Amino acid sequence: MKIVFGAGEVAKEYIKNNYSSSIVCYDNDRRKWGKKVIDDVEIITLDELLKIIECNDCEIIVTPKSDTALYFLKDVCKNDDKVYRYADGSLDKIELDNLPEYSVDINAIESERIKRYELIKDTFKRNGDIVAYNHACEYLEYKRNNILAPELGGIELTNNCNLRCKNCPTPTCKREKGYMGDAVFNEAFKYISPDQDSYFSMHGLGEPLLHPKIFEYLDRVTSIKRPVILSTNGLLLDDTNIDSIMNTLNKTSKSRFYISFHSEKSVKNWIKCVDWMTEHKENRIELFGQVLEHNKDEALRWLRNCGISNPCDNKYIRFITSHSFAGNVSARRHEYSDIEVNNRFKNCYYVNSNIILMAWDGRFKSCCLDSEVCADRGSIYDIKNIRCSTHPYKLCHTCDPDWTSNFQ
Ligand code: SF4
Repeated sequence: MKIVFGAGEVAKEYIKNNYSSSIVCYDNDRRKWGKKVIDDVEIITLDELLKIIECNDCEIIVTPKSDTALYFLKDVCKNDDKVYRYADGSLDKIELDNLPEYSVDINAIESERIKRYELIKDTFKRNGDIVAYNHACEYLEYKRNNILAPELGGIELTNNCNLRCKNCPTPTCKREKGYMGDAVFNEAFKYISPDQDSYFSMHGLGEPLLHPKIFEYLDRVTSIKRPVILSTNGLLLDDTNIDSIMNTLNKTSKSRFYISFHSEKSVKNWIKCVDWMTEHKENRIELFGQVLEHNKDEALRWLRNCGISNPCDNKYIRFITSHSFAGNVSARRHEYSDIEVNNRFKNCYYVNSNIILMAWDGRFKSCCLDSEVCADRGSIYDIKNIRCSTHPYKLCHTCDPDWTSNFQ
């Protein structure tokens, strides 16, 4: 039996050139299961893959470039299955037994970051951005001495919210509610890198605009030129603070501003932000009103009420899936098999980038889905000693397949 692993363009090319009725295709992206890769070749599910491997001698053709596909196959194949990698029109035999133990090369990731940040620091100096330059110098001094420490990807200002949406774990959040204080913010601020490629997240759980010092903290982060991503339900936006937020975000080379459509007021305030964008044509902000899957019909009705009848064509609107926050929204919780969990962990954005997030009280979250801060990863005061986990957390067993790992 021949199994083509992966359902992308390379897989299509292989199947077209080597078609036979005994070929099946498998892809770790669950969203593709049951669909056709070409004509009559269907993409099978994980259960179907395991059954085929169990009952047949298999030849497996690997088409993705990523090595995590090989580790996945090592977990599911029998010893006598033959595995080949297909690239540039030819096949190379792969001995899965010869794969080294799986690991993430944190030293290489962080060394590359330091090189990039040195260049960014020099650019700040050339441009006369003294505040950003001084911060980058201090950050690099810390980073060179603590190369394996994780990169701080964002902070949660509060886990309080002024809404109770059913797609969100905030209303049922069991941990203590609160607002980030100056001491925690000032400690975290030291560890915000000068990266210009990624956005520093200033939301987690809760509504960030409820924080009494949101404007001060936003101003501090954008003053060191770090691009920011801010997500709000938009209820607390008004004519005065929209101008202030947009001008502050506009101090960086690029920043993102998301307004999720949880009410008609969210839509009305998003329209005011769109007006700001139109009036400030040279701005560097990426603004998106978000239509979520779980209340899509309501959101489209609010948009129509506000005169927006073609949201798909609107460059300031994006459509996103509603996820389960790794099972923390209990109605959407789903437990996955160890095979899937191990594979997802190996492809996890946070694990592979050595990135960590911080809750309002300074404790670390393993990822943006860790709404209960259950991964037990210490606090901002221990950041120098925190190391990337080599094994999935309890939370990973209910992680949303299509969210941060982008597949499975
Ligand atoms: S739960 Fe978080 S850490 Fe675990 S795989 Fe999902 S995104 Fe990664």
